[in-house]
Amino acid sequence: MKKITGVMIYYYFVCKRKLWFFVNDITMEQSSDLVAMGKLVDETSYSREKKNILIDENINIDFLKEWKVIHEVKKSRKIEEASKWQLKYYIWILKHKGVAIEKGVLDYPLLRKRENVFLLEEDEKRLEEIRKDIEEIILLKSPPQRIKKSICRKCAYYELCYI
Ligand code: SF4
Repeated sequence: MKKITGVMIYYYFVCKRKLWFFVNDITMEQSSDLVAMGKLVDETSYSREKKNILIDENINIDFLKEWKVIHEVKKSRKIEEASKWQLKYYIWILKHKGVAIEKGVLDYPLLRKRENVFLLEEDEKRLEEIRKDIEEIILLKSPPQRIKKSICRKCAYYELCYI
């Protein structure tokens, strides 16, 4: 079974079909202008902080301040729910490794905004359920249905889903 990564948690909230493409190694993100822009934000906004820390090959943290605060850099607040859960998952993984993280921070450098994210007790139960759901999605023989939302037009898999 594949390790559940932060990106998988993010895609779980964005679109389960997208998650299925991703876990089946159907990746088209490189050609997306939006992803390129996201990388640009990532590379330019926080150059003095520790960046892109890979832990256990399944979580890739944008940066970590004094091992107490995890930062995740995003370019827009459109899919904020997914970003929050991705960050909660990172806090949860680190907690299980004995690292007590105080909080997560979602950074939106283009909007000049940031939001604190905390891992609550009920979140931990929800994360267990999400992980089980993702394991089931990984085992599906074909992708889940299209979600038919406005975000589809900016999704890297748009052509695969609609054309
Ligand atoms: S285009 Fe829409 S339905 Fe298809 S993977 Fe992307 S978000 Fe999901």
